[in-house]
Amino acid sequence: MQSIRPDNIEQQVRFLSHDLLEGRGTGQRGGDLAAEYIATQFALDGLKPAGDDGSYLQKVPMVGITPGADTRFTLVPAGGQLSDINPLDLKPLDDYVAYDQTQQPESNIDAEIVYVGYGIEAPEYNWDDYKGVDVKGKVLLMLVNQPPSDDPKFFTGKTLTYYGRWVYKYEEAARKGAVGAILIHKTEMASYGWEVVRNSFSGEKSYLKLDGTPKLKAAAWIHLDIARKLASDAGMDLDKMMADATSRDFKPAPLHVRLSAHMTSKVRPFESDNVIAVLPGSDKKLKDEGVLYTAHYDHFGIRPDMPGDNIFNGAMDNATGCGILMEIARVYAGAAQKPHRSIFIVSVTAEEQGLLGSEYLGKHPPIPAGKISLDLNYDNVLPLGSPEEVQVSGAERTTFYPLRCRRLLRISALRFVPTRAPKPDTTIAPITSASRGSAFRLFPSMRG
Ligand SMILES: [Zn+2]
Repeated sequence: MQSIRPDNIEQQVRFLSHDLLEGRGTGQRGGDLAAEYIATQFALDGLKPAGDDGSYLQKVPMVGITPGADTRFTLVPAGGQLSDINPLDLKPLDDYVAYDQTQQPESNIDAEIVYVGYGIEAPEYNWDDYKGVDVKGKVLLMLVNQPPSDDPKFFTGKTLTYYGRWVYKYEEAARKGAVGAILIHKTEMASYGWEVVRNSFSGEKSYLKLDGTPKLKAAAWIHLDIARKLASDAGMDLDKMMADATSRDFKPAPLHVRLSAHMTSKVRPFESDNVIAVLPGSDKKLKDEGVLYTAHYDHFGIRPDMPGDNIFNGAMDNATGCGILMEIARVYAGAAQKPHRSIFIVSVTAEEQGLLGSEYLGKHPPIPAGKISLDLNYDNVLPLGSPEEVQVSGAERTTFYPLRCRRLLRISALRFVPTRAPKPDTTIAPITSASRGSAFRLFPSMRG
């Protein structure tokens, strides 16, 4: 078998991170150029196309959503003794951020706000914040993260599970028929400041085109000060509400305050591509199974609103992964002895937009998901010199790990480091009931 040539990887990184590639932005010319280039490399290697209609490209339909300047977000106390409190008009970006996930140019919300603690229903941890309460048509107020614990068997202790992530909380609220979900931002709980929320929830955000998955008219965050004011207007105490949420006995609490919102959005439909090539397996039976090698090719593109050098070249993130991917493709294609299983080489799009290319691939895999034996993903491979130790994050959840990883580690002289307690938003623990969420969660290694 030919060997991997580091020089080749370096040349690919050089090209993909060139200014001419314009930062490989999703929905931008540079991103499309990168996809075409990678597809061309696969073709020159002699790999077979495994995208749409006999091509190397799998079309990923997306929309870009930009909140309109005339969006209004108002907290309106209900009648009775609260009626002397004035409605509170929230200031965009300072007080709240919100996106309309329904991909409509306009939506209206006038709904009661119900506090649902962490907004988590996790039968495997015997935890249910909803307690069967019907939240259809409501706006749910909730905390970020998950109930605090040192017990590895309870929400995996200090490691953040998928349940603690805002993506899950919005998904679960939408599945239960809520029209909106508002996350209370608290720096210590989110592990990042309001500035991060403000920056990552402003301007255009990309979403997969609607595919029948329930969506919220308002997927929002509010500043802690506003949450305090909201609680006190409702005659409640936010600190007590937060403490209550750490108990198994927590029950949803209506706030007797309504959210009155007029959401306007600029909706820009566009398409981007995953690039998929295959080397068919050589074994009659095993060729129906596949091993995936993945790396995202997109980065942040050009930011026209920024002065000076506004190209985000993304040499490390993730021209490196793509360079490795293309070199693996070249070596596999030229190998005298073909692998038993089919080898899929996939470069996904829109990772920086929230793993959208991976999510789409997970929902539309090139072979049935149950036939995928393994996915090895390459992302942001930093030039740090020769590694001495390796952290095989997530691998312990696969059957591949005990069989192969350990053997590889033995022969490679790398020191193995168990998964460290991570930053809360960077580690994903197993979802024991995979059917509860998006299909891409079935492939934990695609994340990141
Ligand atoms: Zn990356």
